[in-house]
Amino acid sequence: MINIAKPDIGQDEIEAVTEVMKSGMIASGPQVTEFEKEFASYIGTKHAVAVNSGTAALHAALLANDIGKGDEVITTPFTFIATGNSILFTGAKPVFADIDPISFNIDPDLIEDKITDKTKAIMPVHLYGNPAEMKIIMEIADEYDLAIIEDACQAHGAEYNKKKVGSFGCGAFSFYPTKNMTTGEGGIITTNDDEVAEKARMIRAHGSRERYMHEMLGYNLRMTDISAAIGRVQLKKLDTYIQKRRDNARLLNEEFGDLEGITAPVEDTNARHVYHQYTVRVKNRTKVIESLKDSDIGYGIHYPLPLHKQPYYLSLGYKDNLPLSEKTAEEVISLPVHPALGESELLQVIKAMKRGLSNS
Ligand SMILES: *Cc1c(COP(=O)(O)O)cnc(C)c1O
Repeated sequence: MINIAKPDIGQDEIEAVTEVMKSGMIASGPQVTEFEKEFASYIGTKHAVAVNSGTAALHAALLANDIGKGDEVITTPFTFIATGNSILFTGAKPVFADIDPISFNIDPDLIEDKITDKTKAIMPVHLYGNPAEMKIIMEIADEYDLAIIEDACQAHGAEYNKKKVGSFGCGAFSFYPTKNMTTGEGGIITTNDDEVAEKARMIRAHGSRERYMHEMLGYNLRMTDISAAIGRVQLKKLDTYIQKRRDNARLLNEEFGDLEGITAPVEDTNARHVYHQYTVRVKNRTKVIESLKDSDIGYGIHYPLPLHKQPYYLSLGYKDNLPLSEKTAEEVISLPVHPALGESELLQVIKAMKRGLSNS
């Protein structure tokens, strides 16, 4: 069996956790503080605020940017549910703009049409680890005085014009085990804004700066030192992981580039794609899936149903017609690209794909 994802937990992580366990300080403590410093330095932001999931990072990032009831946030419908839900948690409304069919990210040229006097923020998602078109998004945000909350949950280390994603606006990352680096469960907010960082810290801990003094409504979103210790080890290996993912993707691209019935992912010349997922578009997905299953190769559909078509969103009254997202959801399939793959496994993936495509 070749898995679609495989977290790399080794002796270093085990030792780091054991140290924390022995210290007796297993809740949020010095490991979290150090992890925050190291992650901020890696992304190139002044602050990082660690929390207990990527979803919590998105939620706290929105709240720290004063997004709430009556506000609208423009985002992509072609993403994981947490993108839209985090906006709903705050009482604000997700407004969907359709995607660019090549990058799979929000089409920057469709954003302006969605702006109303209620719009407060744009939330681009760097889907699959491929940076969104930040230059145009920043220009629009500047012109209309909107916040940018980047859903960078799949894009640790991805770059746009040599700058790391999560440093353009307020970033939110996830450390779920399938992501490019993990803390078990976990997330982090990145920002250059002192006030946003301070607010995010308060939102993380019951709205308090000082123990038992509560200035605002907060939650318990704290990361544990056990998680942070894992994250510190993983962060050191992140660039090696990314390089391996990029090498694997290049090998797959070379094979799929000229084949009939498949479109391989594209990396823009100004981008560093980190291939959280290696996602292709295929004409006949059913046949391709059959062939992968026959060869015991794991795959993923990211994502089978855009947010505006989800049952819960239909119940909220969403009636959007976003044809590119809807068509893409029927054609995409993600293939194994993780760093633990050897060449023989990649060759098996290629072989199974070629067979599936020729049967189509
Ligand atoms: C994983 C992910 C999230 C949520 O992160 P969790 O850590 O699972 O809460 C949000 N958005 C996107 C695009 C993701 O891939």
